[in-house]
Amino acid sequence: MEYGKLVEVYESLDATQKKHDKRDIMAEFFAEAGDELPEVVLMCLGKPYPDWKNTEIGISSNMMVEIISQATGHSEEDIEEKWKDEGDLGLAAEHMVENKTQQRLVAGSLTVQKVIERIRKVADMEAKAINRSVDQSKKKSEIADLISSADPREARYVTRTVLRTLRLGVAEGLVRDALDHAFLDGEHAEDIQRAYNMTNDFVEVSEAAREGVEALAELEMELFRPIKSMLAMKVENIEAGFEKVGEPAAIDYKYDGLRAQIHVKGDRVKVFTRRLEDVTEQFPDVVESVKGNFELEEGVIDAEVVAYDPEDGGTIPFQKLSRRIKRKYEIQKLRKEIPVEVRPFDLLHDGEPLLEESYRERWEKLSEAVTEEDQELRLVDHEETSDPEDVNRMQHESLEEGHEGIMMKNLDAEYKPGSRVGYMVKLKPVMETLDLAVVGAKWSEGRRSDWLGRLYLGCYDKEEDEYLEVGKMATGLTDEQFQKITEKLEPLIVNEDGRKVDIRPEVVLEVEYEEIQESPTYSSGYALRFPRMKAFREDKNEADSLEKIKRLYEEQK
Ligand code: ATP
Repeated sequence: MEYGKLVEVYESLDATQKKHDKRDIMAEFFAEAGDELPEVVLMCLGKPYPDWKNTEIGISSNMMVEIISQATGHSEEDIEEKWKDEGDLGLAAEHMVENKTQQRLVAGSLTVQKVIERIRKVADMEAKAINRSVDQSKKKSEIADLISSADPREARYVTRTVLRTLRLGVAEGLVRDALDHAFLDGEHAEDIQRAYNMTNDFVEVSEAAREGVEALAELEMELFRPIKSMLAMKVENIEAGFEKVGEPAAIDYKYDGLRAQIHVKGDRVKVFTRRLEDVTEQFPDVVESVKGNFELEEGVIDAEVVAYDPEDGGTIPFQKLSRRIKRKYEIQKLRKEIPVEVRPFDLLHDGEPLLEESYRERWEKLSEAVTEEDQELRLVDHEETSDPEDVNRMQHESLEEGHEGIMMKNLDAEYKPGSRVGYMVKLKPVMETLDLAVVGAKWSEGRRSDWLGRLYLGCYDKEEDEYLEVGKMATGLTDEQFQKITEKLEPLIVNEDGRKVDIRPEVVLEVEYEEIQESPTYSSGYALRFPRMKAFREDKNEADSLEKIKRLYEEQK
């Protein structure tokens, strides 16, 4: 198929915001794609390979500027200037090809096949480069060759595809629906979704969809093809947890480690992260512990890889463990510095796919396959109960041992890849709120221009007897709260500079937040991430101290 035909589809997709229209445009195109259906499906998603392959193309914007220069004869400076003007390197590429200084040798020769093959070639070079340096000039000349034989519009989309900035508003769900409308009757989205969950592969799914519902039903999870991990929802308390996952529920400790999907077949073991990255080489210790201690010949384990302190066996947070994920060199050294144990909590395959079995059954099979006493491969701490007291006790024990909290899981539920469907929920202690004074504010614009909007929050530095800023809060207030705050703050204004006002620190708010970070921006040296107002502290006129913020910051580390 001519690449120009795909470009027309890209342009139609770009021209509408409506999901239905996008779906119909793709459905029509897929129906006519013939043998090239898998390629055009991937290219609508802007990917050279199916998801489970987790490929990177590895071309940066700066490299792309060099490529365009190489292919069109324009200077890099000119290209950069055009890029700045347009705000999009794709449009800059289009312009440069339109005004080429070098004449193209072969015109109109781009096909979908050629584009995807070249991009795959580059992605393959990048994949091989994990443990050695890659020859960037080879990668560049592959793409330059594409740009050389592209017409201006084609150059726009080749550039965007290579840079992963297609932004067509086409997500997986839309491709699923388009396949349904192209080949089935528009009523089989669920069957397609199931097939996709199992395979993570739109090549297989699109071909099966074309054949029909039965072919879709035959698609199954396969070893060494990671699937998306099932994710958790957050609950505020045990009661809400039971409401979501039912009774009795499985309760696990929640560890602060790395989610790992471990595929095993005999001596072959591969470790994938939640982003489907293959980290087998970075974790030889994980491979060894599975090889020595997993009782099944074939299987897929869902586990948390947890780091511990080699000195005292204490917990080590994920931040430190994460240093091992990208590490290419000195793997053995790092393995000693940051040793890990594997804590399995689910079994997704035991020679046969288990995703559609209940968690109760999967856990039973996992327990048989993992000998509990072992130190390196040890089941998560797990109980099954309907009693909130048990859950409470487990939560305390987990926190005391330095873990994050607990997970509550539905024993009857299947495994839903990639979803936060509430089959498992996480319960982490609610972070202590802070009482902070409003020390400054900004008049809003537009509709709310007579209200004070953005609020600057301050803590109290006892030693210096002054208020220091710890961040600003702009969102999450209702109109009523804005109004009330303005009424309270207006009389306290001490200084005005444009829209910004300084305020005498007498109004104290109870503030929730995600995290405390160190920050040079604010006078306290700290900043709250995502602060939200919880309540007015009418009963207080002094804010929490700088010491308290320091303590909480240290504790969360
Ligand atoms: P968080 O930052 O809270 O870990 P998240 O967005 O990374 O959240 P969620 O799916 O929301 O991930 O929370 C569940 C995560 O907790 C899992 O991805 C897994 O890495 C981790 N985890 C730790 N212990 C367990 C356990 N026993 N069962 C399931 N997941 C666990």
